[in-house]
Amino acid sequence: MAIPKQASWMVRKILNMRKYWHTIITSPTLVKKEKFHIQAAYIALRGPVTEVAWSSLICHSVASPRTVFILWLALLGRLRTQDLLIKWGIDVNGTCVLCKNGLETQEHLLFHCYFSKKVWQEMLS
Ligand SMILES: [Zn+2]
Repeated sequence: MAIPKQASWMVRKILNMRKYWHTIITSPTLVKKEKFHIQAAYIALRGPVTEVAWSSLICHSVASPRTVFILWLALLGRLRTQDLLIKWGIDVNGTCVLCKNGLETQEHLLFHCYFSKKVWQEMLS
């Protein structure tokens, strides 16, 4: 069957995958005891994945979703700090908004900022 020109993008993609179907359903790693295993197909298509050491902090956390999301951004080094905004071409002055002293980086906010240190000290005491 030819792919209809009026078919949607998704239908065209699905029909285009027909040429790979025979390879997929006859693969010995995906078909066991004459049954096709969708999980094995997903893993084969996804490719190898390396698990990061901090995945349990994110995946099995009892913290709020918002907190987990911010932690995930911090672990990836992608908190929206001033230095990152400057790299993206956004016009900001770069100074830490909490202490007004030094470039606001993730490292500064978490470990060197005077204001953050005070907050942590108050919380821990
Ligand atoms: Zn600061």
